[in-house]
Amino acid sequence: MEFINIAIDGPSGAGKSTIAKIIAKEMGYIYIDTGAMYRAVALKMLNLGIDIKNEQDKVIEALDNTEVDIAHSDEGQLIFLDKEDVTGKIRTPEVSMGASAVAVIKEVRLKLVELQRILAKKNNCIMDGRDIGTYVLPNAKIKIFLTASVEDRAKRRYDELLEKGQKVVYEDVLSDMIKRDKNDSERSFAPLKPADDSILIDTSGNTLEKSVNIIKSIILDKIGK
Ligand code: C5P
Repeated sequence: MEFINIAIDGPSGAGKSTIAKIIAKEMGYIYIDTGAMYRAVALKMLNLGIDIKNEQDKVIEALDNTEVDIAHSDEGQLIFLDKEDVTGKIRTPEVSMGASAVAVIKEVRLKLVELQRILAKKNNCIMDGRDIGTYVLPNAKIKIFLTASVEDRAKRRYDELLEKGQKVVYEDVLSDMIKRDKNDSERSFAPLKPADDSILIDTSGNTLEKSVNIIKSIILDKIGK
């Protein structure tokens, strides 16, 4: 059986995961958050005390003994690192910056992309990331590139972190976001960029409901349901 794969790419904070989660649930597809996989690898390296940026050889060495896996629950995707559920541990600013640093390492990407392709082969899914349409699933049925102004994205991320009870300063969230955008777009292997055949959507100023409706109608149009 051939499964339908939908790719949603874009920079941090454009609303990819919130939107993809809602639509996947409505369609009965699984939602695959690939960012969580990079975050899990970052968490492992931080736990090992590795300075990710300056000790890439150590990251690559530790990768052989790193097991990343996902599962699905009613609350959404769960992420496992070496069999431990780390879903609640990967959303800190430190892990965000670490994820962006491990993501430039080709060996890390190849390992995670392998897992992502296996999951896509076995499921109708909406997969969210940075390189899904360009590299992971070049034959995805629908490719959406979601973006928004950096200020809008930082504000969303800031509100999310506050809601989770984390103490953060808006200016720090904004400067982290600018750094992550730069890392993601400038890396040499599978950088963040829209696929030629992707549909570009700017969510700046939109309510969540508006963005969900726009994307849902594009998907349903293409799938013909
Ligand atoms: O999407 P999220 O913010 O959780 O992703 C964390 C980091 O993982 C991103 O900043 C990006 O560097 C990296 N990433 C990636 N490719 C993906 C998904 C995430 O490089 N497909």
